[in-house]
Amino acid sequence: MPSAIVFFGPPGSGKGTQASRLAASLDIPQVSTGDLLRSHVAKGTPLGAIARPIMESGALVPDDLVTKMLKERLAEKDAAKGAIFDGYPRTVAQAKSLDALLREAGGEVNVVLFIDVPDAALVERLLKRAVLEGRADDTKETIAERLRVYRAKTAPLADLYAKSGALVTIDGNRAVEAVAADVAAAVRKARQGVA
Ligand code: ADP
Repeated sequence: MPSAIVFFGPPGSGKGTQASRLAASLDIPQVSTGDLLRSHVAKGTPLGAIARPIMESGALVPDDLVTKMLKERLAEKDAAKGAIFDGYPRTVAQAKSLDALLREAGGEVNVVLFIDVPDAALVERLLKRAVLEGRADDTKETIAERLRVYRAKTAPLADLYAKSGALVTIDGNRAVEAVAADVAAAVRKARQGVA
């Protein structure tokens, strides 16, 4: 897998928006575990039935289930050229699984884009999205829980990826275009480093 780009940041940071723009410009698929799980819920698969109440509570779906789902997605043809990971890894265990999966494919995490946004702005954005998109987990209570889970389980990944030298922190509290320009520059730099 030649390109493994990871987006990481709190719920509402805009990482999905940025991942989708980058995927279009690089022609590498965006792999969003949140979207994959929502599609399982919508289709009523066994995984969807397990995931639904967990997602509605703001908790994380168990690592082994998410990792199995991710592995299946990466086995699809379009992912042979790489993937832009959005919402995975979310725990230290998932980061280890991702490393192992990429190693098997002869790749590694090339760059981790941390989209940093202060809490007050996040809550405001998520409440707005609740009105616009009507996502089941965008209620006030669930948002608070998702932020708590993010801080406890996902935020520690910043240290991990800072140590490996892959982390690039981007100020996400700006217009989509401005964030996208920094994302593009960071990816360009990382790819030059690899070449
Ligand atoms: P957001 O980043 O806005 O919280 P996502 O669409 O990435 O939204 O995720 C929505 C929900 O899906 C999460 O709150 C969690 O329950 C579940 N989920 C998504 N990705 C993962 C993952 N990698 N591990 C465990 N649960 C996940």
